[in-house]
Amino acid sequence: MSTIINSIPAKLFDKFRDQKLIVRLNDVGEYRKYLQTDDLNDVVAVQLRSSDFEVDEIQNIGGNVPVDIVMDHPSVQFPQLYRFAKLTDTRPVRVSIHVRSGFKNAVKLALALRFDVKLEVGQPGPALIDEMAEVLEIYLHRSTVTHRIEYFHSIFMGFFHGDTSNLWSIQEDDPEKFCYVTDEGVEGISQRFGRTNPEDILRAVSNQETNTEQIEKSECDTCQYLACCGGYFKWPEKEYDCTGVKSLFETIEKASAELKSDLKAFAVSQGEMPE
Ligand code: SF4
Repeated sequence: MSTIINSIPAKLFDKFRDQKLIVRLNDVGEYRKYLQTDDLNDVVAVQLRSSDFEVDEIQNIGGNVPVDIVMDHPSVQFPQLYRFAKLTDTRPVRVSIHVRSGFKNAVKLALALRFDVKLEVGQPGPALIDEMAEVLEIYLHRSTVTHRIEYFHSIFMGFFHGDTSNLWSIQEDDPEKFCYVTDEGVEGISQRFGRTNPEDILRAVSNQETNTEQIEKSECDTCQYLACCGGYFKWPEKEYDCTGVKSLFETIEKASAELKSDLKAFAVSQGEMPE
């Protein structure tokens, strides 16, 4: 079986059965029509793309399949998250929040409701970088936060453990691992990349993995965050100014170094030999 995870519209569920799937549901009617089955072993997540759901019905989806609630317009949609609060009784819940003006309120509420968060981030300008920095501050320093905010969490853990976590994978946009199937059944790359030629994205990802060619000679090859970013923020617009996203990487890197240092000092205070 292919290890690629396919994001498919619910109406294509039968066609893609036996493959690893993220099933997109636009409304509760699609759930009733296509997903009333116990055969959900290969469903990695069900993605709710509107708030028009009877939560009790979603609660009944078999196998405790994780649910991913997509918020395209978080500044106005966020109060709807309350409706999904009970879902955590039966399954993991994540909210995929588009980084648009005012998105931080959705992040705060999602965390309060014990949901994981994924930031759907494009190429943020200065105002959105400021808002992301506020959210990062919450993730790093608010003691009541117990759930993940991606991509911050995986990058933090990557710095902490000395791994090179890769933003393409973290964001589920690596075309070697994820396939987006449109509502018309066309298989392609993540919608984040708009009209970009899929071959260009594939080449970019495989080049940074094999390290035979840099993705963006002008800025990425001197960027200290190339290992974890992989040139991700240079798509789809190569001219994008990375000053803001680099400052976020820097904040995460410093916080992980501080944690390491605190843990070392604690180990010494306990009479243990630090690693
Ligand atoms: S932060 Fe920008 S310059 Fe650095 S690797 Fe990522 S895309 Fe390239």
